[in-house]
Amino acid sequence: MKNNIKNLSKEELFNYFESIGEKKFRTNQLQNAIYNNRTSDFQSISNFSANLKNKLEQDFNIVSLELIKTMLSSDGSTKFIFKTEDNNFIESVFLPNNSNADASNRNTICVSTMAGCPVGCKFCATGNFGYKRNLDIAEILDQILFIQQYFSDIKIKNAVFMGMGEPFLNYNNLISAIRLILEFSLLNSKGITISTIGIPAAILDFANEGLKIKLALSLHSPFDNNRQKLIPIAKKYKIEEILKSLDFYYRSTHLPITLEYILFKGLNDSNKDIKKLARIARRFPSVINLIPYNNISKNLDLIPCNETEIKEFAKKLHNENIVVITRKSQGQDISAACGMLACNEKEY
Ligand code: SF4
Repeated sequence: MKNNIKNLSKEELFNYFESIGEKKFRTNQLQNAIYNNRTSDFQSISNFSANLKNKLEQDFNIVSLELIKTMLSSDGSTKFIFKTEDNNFIESVFLPNNSNADASNRNTICVSTMAGCPVGCKFCATGNFGYKRNLDIAEILDQILFIQQYFSDIKIKNAVFMGMGEPFLNYNNLISAIRLILEFSLLNSKGITISTIGIPAAILDFANEGLKIKLALSLHSPFDNNRQKLIPIAKKYKIEEILKSLDFYYRSTHLPITLEYILFKGLNDSNKDIKKLARIARRFPSVINLIPYNNISKNLDLIPCNETEIKEFAKKLHNENIVVITRKSQGQDISAACGMLACNEKEY
């Protein structure tokens, strides 16, 4: 299988062009064609000779994903099912902002970083689907390039790395993709959020990258024992250790941290949970996102709180002077909402 040209760093591209007797400036021309002119075919790079186009075509791929299907939700969300070169399926979602006058500013792409996921969160269909492999740089970038092209008449300024996979378990490819996204202004850093179950060493490294990207922690319980019931890998990463890494992240970036929380009856919805959660939320500037549970797993142990209970929980947090946002589920009818991406082959 040929490598994808987007997987090569600038230096690797310089070296490649030199090795075939071309000048280094071909690197800039090539990246300009791909990221600014959105070329998806070597033959259409007008400032390259026919020989060079053919040589590139012989040595590399330029597109990493094949669109298999799109599914449109009644709320305007669109799920994209892509196939990779080695026949893995991944999903990405376009989430329009339906609630805001300046809606274009909030259109968002939910990006995957893995085919499947090894973390196995109990509330997540991707976790139940299993892990195939990490996505490479090209596969991460192509989700954004493709969806921006697909909706070329509207602006998409935001991306959440919250699709299939734990982004920080694919750290190097994630960082390389983000650096290219920023270098070529596919998005700006304010529009990007990484959602993680909390891997302290990766959060510390990420703070040192100097990228100023927002972080969201999938917290879901302020107590280790209950959190571990939802996120098995949390046995390895204790809450206090994660919070210390987030303290450092905040000190390095001055960006508020989002704490994601799905409410389950009898598991994480008590007054004791509220008090402890509020203490965590006061540790650094933060916002708590209450996320509706999309019941995918037929996991009978997990009973989602109803709307009234969620409102009550939010009110009690407000009373603790905590900023709380209750998220509306988007794309539920096409299995595109949070925790529902599972490449269900019956859908293809
Ligand atoms: S919630 Fe995220 S980390 Fe957990 S299993 Fe799903 S994709 Fe993986």
